Amino acid sequence: MVEDKHSFFYDWGSVTTYKPDISSQELESRVKWFINMRWFAILACAAGALIAAAGIFPANLDYLDFAVVIVFLSITNLVYSIISRNLLGDRSNRRELQSLLLWQMLGDFAALSFLTYALGGIETPMATLFMAHIILATLFFTRRRSLIIAAAAWICASFPLMFEWAGIIPMRSIFDGQFKSMVISRFEVAFGFVLASGAVYFVCWYLVSEISSSLKLREQQLEESNQMLIKIDKEKTQSTLLATHELKAPFAAIKSHIYTLRDGYCGELPEKAQTVVSRIGDRCDQILSRITDIIHLSNLRTLVVTDMRLVPVDLIAAFSEEAREGALIGKARNVEVINLAETHPSVYIMGSYSHLKTLFSNLIQNAIFYCHENTGRVVLSIESLSKKVSVAVQDNGIGIPSENLDKIFDDYFRSKNAVGHYKGGTGLGLSIVKEIVFIHGGTIQVESTVGIGSTFTVRFDITEAKQEKTDHGEHTDS
Ligand code: ADP
Repeated sequence: MVEDKHSFFYDWGSVTTYKPDISSQELESRVKWFINMRWFAILACAAGALIAAAGIFPANLDYLDFAVVIVFLSITNLVYSIISRNLLGDRSNRRELQSLLLWQMLGDFAALSFLTYALGGIETPMATLFMAHIILATLFFTRRRSLIIAAAAWICASFPLMFEWAGIIPMRSIFDGQFKSMVISRFEVAFGFVLASGAVYFVCWYLVSEISSSLKLREQQLEESNQMLIKIDKEKTQSTLLATHELKAPFAAIKSHIYTLRDGYCGELPEKAQTVVSRIGDRCDQILSRITDIIHLSNLRTLVVTDMRLVPVDLIAAFSEEAREGALIGKARNVEVINLAETHPSVYIMGSYSHLKTLFSNLIQNAIFYCHENTGRVVLSIESLSKKVSVAVQDNGIGIPSENLDKIFDDYFRSKNAVGHYKGGTGLGLSIVKEIVFIHGGTIQVESTVGIGSTFTVRFDITEAKQEKTDHGEHTDS
């Protein structure tokens, strides 16, 4: 049965498994969000200016007051977004981002203070808008810093009323002015308003900062537990690695003894014994290739990932070596291997020559083994476009069922049709491929149709630098 073509794409762009720094990420997204929200506030002010100009609201509103705030917020927000663009993306800029947030809040306080005054101060609920900044400050900053912000909000919200009471600025009222005149003519009422707003601000700060401190603490504890689990997992993998390594030598010895028996060095074996010995040999080969894969995968996940140094390597050279090897394996199985990349000029990427060879070898050998003998055809091609190079391994083999496409990169996974077609697999080849592509900062894509074939495409960034090749095929700095 022929299914529709399905594809699966593995991209590590957003994966942060190895060194997560959630707090910095969050801080960055909040900076962006804060700047975006200010554009909405500017729009709201523009709506206010329109209402004031149209005179639809029965109050003494002046559109020029809104215009002043719009101009002030637009200029400052433009400056913030330019500065933040230079700071975002680099985690070492954490402190600068926090200072930028602090300045944004103080700028907003100036605008809010002016708007509170222009809209009659206590005649409108404008001063409650300071509360939003107090809540945000408890998320962005330490408790002490957010308390300073709460105090600054209180002072800025109280300025208009206090200055009007002291006669420093003229009293403004958007209604008939009677209520406002009564408030500022009496000390205890004016100060009562100021103290009450202060009490509301500080209670709000206390409650929210309590909650956000405990959330931050939880986040930190989770992060520590996560790091601990990663460490334990690494130790576990290392001990598995050691145990597996120790199994390799005895199995290699058993294999050589079996070959001694099979090849008649201990005398001619009866036919039945020959069959049994050759079966034992096959099983030994399977176990050895599984052990080799486990060791390789563990190395990639533990030892190498942290220590590996990537250098410029010629991807074409690594690919061609494996294509030649593949052609020999293909010949033995009567599968045609066509290398369209034979004459492709060198392409350099930052990587490890030996790991790239393993990657290509796994993909090419899979393509060969999952093809039908005699009619199988594997096409290898490379395409380089400005800064990217893509390598494609295409076959006309058994294909991968669509429901298995997202599982084939999992450890030990083998699809049912693959198990039926080829017994020798370990289910670790593509796990190794996935790790190698990840280490190289690349992506891998699979397209497949059951009964028609599969195409695996890996993509990497090209590097400018070229290096000399050493005797071991490994490329080193020149
Ligand atoms: P295996 O040792 O089983 O080949 P891999 O990790 O290399 O292990 O592959 C995992 C599974 O992905 C295979 O068992 C098979 O189901 C599927 N697969 C990989 N490559 C191909 C291919 N070229 N054609 C069909 N199926 C494939």
